[in-house]
Amino acid sequence: MNKYDSIVVGGGISGLLSALVLSKSGKKVLVLERNKNLGNNCNSYVVDGYQVDTGPHAITQLRKGGPLTYLMDNYFDYIPVFVDYGEYFIRTENGLKKVPTDLSGYLTMDILPRKDRLIIAQALTKMLVMWQFGTDLSKTSVYECLPWDNLSSDTADFTDTFCYFLSGRSMKETSVQRMFVGGGFVEESIQKDIAHEKNQYYNLYEEAKKVSYVSRLLNNKKVSYNQFYPRDGLKAIVNAILYSMPKTVEIKTNTAVKEIIVEDNTVKGVSTREDSYYADSIIYSAFVKDIPQYIKDLPAQYISDLNKVKQSKTLTIWLGLSEEFKEFNYVGGEVWFKKKAFWAMPISNYNRNFAPKGKKLVGFMFSVDENNDLESEKRNAYDTILHVYPNIDKFIDMVHYQITTPEKAAVSINGFIADTETPIKNLYIVGTDADDRSMGVTRASYSVVKLIKVLKREGYIVT
Ligand SMILES: Cc1cc2nc3c(=O)[nH]c(=O)nc-3n(C[C@H](O)[C@H](O)[C@H](O)COP(=O)(O)OP(=O)(O)OC[C@H]3O[C@@H](n4cnc5c(N)ncnc54)[C@H](O)[C@@H]3O)c2cc1C
Repeated sequence: MNKYDSIVVGGGISGLLSALVLSKSGKKVLVLERNKNLGNNCNSYVVDGYQVDTGPHAITQLRKGGPLTYLMDNYFDYIPVFVDYGEYFIRTENGLKKVPTDLSGYLTMDILPRKDRLIIAQALTKMLVMWQFGTDLSKTSVYECLPWDNLSSDTADFTDTFCYFLSGRSMKETSVQRMFVGGGFVEESIQKDIAHEKNQYYNLYEEAKKVSYVSRLLNNKKVSYNQFYPRDGLKAIVNAILYSMPKTVEIKTNTAVKEIIVEDNTVKGVSTREDSYYADSIIYSAFVKDIPQYIKDLPAQYISDLNKVKQSKTLTIWLGLSEEFKEFNYVGGEVWFKKKAFWAMPISNYNRNFAPKGKKLVGFMFSVDENNDLESEKRNAYDTILHVYPNIDKFIDMVHYQITTPEKAAVSINGFIADTETPIKNLYIVGTDADDRSMGVTRASYSVVKLIKVLKREGYIVT
């Protein structure tokens, strides 16, 4: 019989991290991935001599107390090399401006009208003070905090663009808390997951951090502090996990799970088209909203919660450019916030080997308007690039499109994020729809740290 201690459904970053943790804790693990490659959204591959990633990526919270750092320190045998992310810029018709990082930066940011800057700075200060004194801002939208009748359309576009990039949704659905964390004013950490419940030290630590929020508003020097990029590309993270994986892990690609076998409300195994596999626990890292496809008798309330999951789609256009195109001679990323907003990252500036000799590689990420057909979205996006960078077409050597769902659940005000535990015994969820902290790879890592906490509490793993 195909019997394992744990089966991991999905071989993206959260599934692979879970398999690593369980196997390093002595468990016999099977990973089932429906695609032919592992890593999914966290990967790199070569197109016409350029090494592209699955979208432009900044890896956040890479510091002590950050979830990926915690996992790397405790479970990796090899840690990839990360390089400083660099700076964030705003692209304007007159070139690049630095993204404001503190109060004086917002007040002097001359891309928006002076009156608007004063209003934004006031609102920012007020909300941070409220946060510091304990107001929960996770359900207050960014839209609600600003007097839109008195603000320009540029300010609306600017705010909406940053909300989309930080939460995947518009400013009406993005919480103030999400903006503060993404903007670097408020820190998140794994302290809650690794500290003993009711730990005095943890409470004192949280209070001390809050006192520093307003001072950070005055002195924050960099949005991207603690943000990095893996020097050998995104795939370096997945490769480091695979390198660290004990031999007790079996991985099957091209193998889609069709059913999760449940008896007496307890998970027993999974079925694929060809076979069935059995285990004491299942770690599910595929889309949480798809669970009802795999399990028939779920409680109605759980199904209704899963239906609230919101997602968004992104389009990335990778351009290979000849080196003479000077607009991208910086390390970091840039945001265009006017019509058809995008975030761009010249990733070959981190590693010359990503592009053929003398060439440059830039990724442009757009959010996809699902009311439009995909081909017109692609055309619009490409035309926007040609509009923003006059003459760029003369330097284009390679064009590559990617359509992706970056996170399995957007952290929006009315959305749903799943718990690690499910109504089915021994079925656990990891991935970007099972934690609301940070974004992407960092959020996936948070969900795995939370899984460790639950499995330790249940006595399933001890280390
Ligand atoms: C354009 C873009 C930009 C991004 N920017 C950033 C960034 O700057 N910083 C950052 O940290 N993150 C970023 N991300 C997000 C980050 O890459 C993802 O959030 C992260 O990789 C998701 O990991 P995951 O394991 O939760 O999910 P996934 O990668 O979606 O993994 C789930 C896996 O489950 C598999 N699966 C699904 N159904 C089944 C089934 N029935 N049977 C077997 N397998 C199944 C899928 O094939 C997939 O491999 C970005 C992503 C994109 C696309």
